[in-house]
Amino acid sequence: MESTLASLSITEAAHKLRTRECTVRELWDACHTAAQSDALHAYLEVFAADEAAIVSAQARIDAEGENAPLLCGIPLAIKDNILIKGKIASAASKMLENYEATYDATAIKKLRDAGALFVGRTNMDEFALGGSTENSAFGPTMNPHDAGRVAGGTSGGSAAAVAANIAIASLGSDTGGSVRNPASYCGVVGFKPTYGSISRSGLIAAASSFDQIGPITKTVADAKTLFDVLKGTDTLDSSTAPEGSYPTFSKEVSTIGVPRTLLEQGLDPDVVQAFNAALEATGCKIVDIEIPSNKPALAAYYIINFAEVSTNLSRLDGMRYGHAARGATLLDDYVLSRTEGFGKETKRRILLGTFVLSAGYIDAYYRKAVAARSALIHEFDEAFKQVDVIATPTMPTPAFKMGEKSDPLSLYLEDVFTVTANLTGMPAISVPMGTVDREGTKLPIGIQFTAPRGADERLFTIGAAVTGEQLY
Ligand code: GLN
Repeated sequence: MESTLASLSITEAAHKLRTRECTVRELWDACHTAAQSDALHAYLEVFAADEAAIVSAQARIDAEGENAPLLCGIPLAIKDNILIKGKIASAASKMLENYEATYDATAIKKLRDAGALFVGRTNMDEFALGGSTENSAFGPTMNPHDAGRVAGGTSGGSAAAVAANIAIASLGSDTGGSVRNPASYCGVVGFKPTYGSISRSGLIAAASSFDQIGPITKTVADAKTLFDVLKGTDTLDSSTAPEGSYPTFSKEVSTIGVPRTLLEQGLDPDVVQAFNAALEATGCKIVDIEIPSNKPALAAYYIINFAEVSTNLSRLDGMRYGHAARGATLLDDYVLSRTEGFGKETKRRILLGTFVLSAGYIDAYYRKAVAARSALIHEFDEAFKQVDVIATPTMPTPAFKMGEKSDPLSLYLEDVFTVTANLTGMPAISVPMGTVDREGTKLPIGIQFTAPRGADERLFTIGAAVTGEQLY
């Protein structure tokens, strides 16, 4: 892959800007050109230069030097479900194909205030529903390591762009693993923060009690840089946690818990081997832990996801929002708009979500799932009395071939390790832990660490230990 300024990390690019090895304009031009050369369909749109922003970022670095925010003048790629004022935000759906955002998401506003630039919007599974970016209404994103394989999802475009060096760093969103899954498949870092630490204002909702925006980066240090700017209470999102909501956790990690029984369920042997080697290399004490509710977790996640998705997407009816088709009657208008606007997986979830919330079935499905979620939270809280972080592979397999998991259940099963962080609201990070060989190609795989709510910093400590970065 061609090495340009776009192949730098945030830390490296910020350094070059400060030492005048490059200007903001040169960095922008290099990233813009790299994004335009996208052969993976990682981007849905590459933006034109925001001249005023480029000039003001340069002026700020000239005036403030080392004191300018690290993100000043850094072009970032943004998942297509995060609103940037004046830009299309389609959530990779025909329903919102022409929807132009009328305001900035809080995350975007914070990046803008730090002087960051936006190079384009990245491909994803429609409404963040999926695990491979094959559900995009505009076609899939290819894996940078093997174009016949998926990039992962749902933030597949954001991860592929970073891995292919056609973005310095990006934002994704994670409802059940969508930042960590493509990070694992593409070989980059993906971080899902504690629920409520980054505002969801301006993030197109999938399942509101799970959704979090998260960075996808080349290094753990970059994930921390983005998190430090993005986090914080927001009056526009009442689910953001006020300052002081959590105890002060130490950043140190000395004990890692491993839910061994979960790993015994038909995992890829190469993945297990790489996982054990990565764990050993941390030098930490490894403790086997039991989380019995891991078993129903995946089912509970999908039931709650369907329920919340069906509710959130009801506003997209061709009257209030979204693709508007007109038929002979008012009912036809609704039916046609939603039939034409939504893809297959989205429709499946709306139907199932409506079913699990219906009067006759809410006790059997939705309420049981909510109870399982509470039990899981309790068991994780108990486990964290013994261990500092919990580790699993991020995904049970490396990136699979396009079309290989067209049966939705087989795709859902890929999420067995990632959904628990969303069910519990806990932070989790995926960092590369090596590669496995598939048909002569080396495919990256990731290791995932989970920490207690509010102990996000611990994940940077342990993540950096795996990648060999010097963080603190
Ligand atoms: N694969 C999971 C799902 O389909 C997670 C998606 C996500 O995190 N947005 O719901």
